[in-house]
Amino acid sequence: MQQSSSSAKAAVTVIGLGPMGRAMAAAYLDAGYEVTVWNRSPGKDADLVGRGARRARSAAEAVAAGPLAVLSLIDVEAMYPVLADADLDGRVLANLSSDVPDKARKAAEWAAARGASYLTGGVNVPPAGIGQEGSSIFVSGPQRAYAEHRETLDVLAATDYRGEDPGYAQLYYQLNMIMFWTAYTGWYQAVAVARANGLTAADILPYAGYTADSLRGFYTHSAAALDADDHAGRAQRLSMCAASVEHILHTAADSGVDTGILAAHAELYRRGVDAGFGGESSSRLVQLLGNPVQG
Ligand code: NDP
Repeated sequence: MQQSSSSAKAAVTVIGLGPMGRAMAAAYLDAGYEVTVWNRSPGKDADLVGRGARRARSAAEAVAAGPLAVLSLIDVEAMYPVLADADLDGRVLANLSSDVPDKARKAAEWAAARGASYLTGGVNVPPAGIGQEGSSIFVSGPQRAYAEHRETLDVLAATDYRGEDPGYAQLYYQLNMIMFWTAYTGWYQAVAVARANGLTAADILPYAGYTADSLRGFYTHSAAALDADDHAGRAQRLSMCAASVEHILHTAADSGVDTGILAAHAELYRRGVDAGFGGESSSRLVQLLGNPVQG
């Protein structure tokens, strides 16, 4: 992900120097870019400035330093006070801060009203993955701005362009996050039950790895059936899955640990059986999740 040797030293601005923004600015320095940085609170840019980054005195000055400003803030709305005084006309903002799709769309309108093109990004890796092979960022927004700055954005991680709708990068990102957080919280729940029974996280780690690996197969096998609305319970029926989910709920309860998450889980599966789907695949639950009132 190095800048091509034939191109002139390109300029890029990074606004927001949390762990993610610092990793981004460092990746640009590694790739030979002329980097301008700004952060709301002082003291987070010392290493970067020591390596040649230019410290802007204000966010407005940082934006004025080059055609592309990459934002890495706590969320999308943090951008408004930060850029309130900046002249955005003709600039491209790549806001790689995580947030919900609708806020990304509103931010794109806000930027467009000030003459800027606005790209949204959802970063799929932690700071250590920035600039590394195999890392990716969802990007959406104006195709022209993306084409113009793709090479610069690819320095951070391979960009996966999701179309003109500025909400789409965040939508794809949040879909990944739904899968990530529900699975990762399941890990914490399992460790709590393990500890209550005298086991450690290390004791169950090999089995956690096996379970995580097996999920890929479950997703792959169910995707085509879900899209075809085929809910035949060939290998597993919802009634069996509901019984299994009751077992995990009661194992947790018998262990004396919090059962809030598992109780919500069991309630969903019970609703599926009550709705008459017990003999079909658990994929019927997508229907209940999509229609909570009717379900
Ligand atoms: P941090 O919370 O550590 O840093 C947030 C940055 O936002 C800081 O520069 C902070 O400034 C600034 N900020 C917060 N609130 C405001 C505000 N109201 N006005 C102006 N600036 C504000 O986050 P990270 O660096 O970890 O992450 C940045 C983005 O990257 C987030 O959207 C996050 O979801 C996303 N991301 C992070 C990952 C990670 O593993 N860290 C992984 C994938 C995505 P100040 O220093 O002054 O507080």
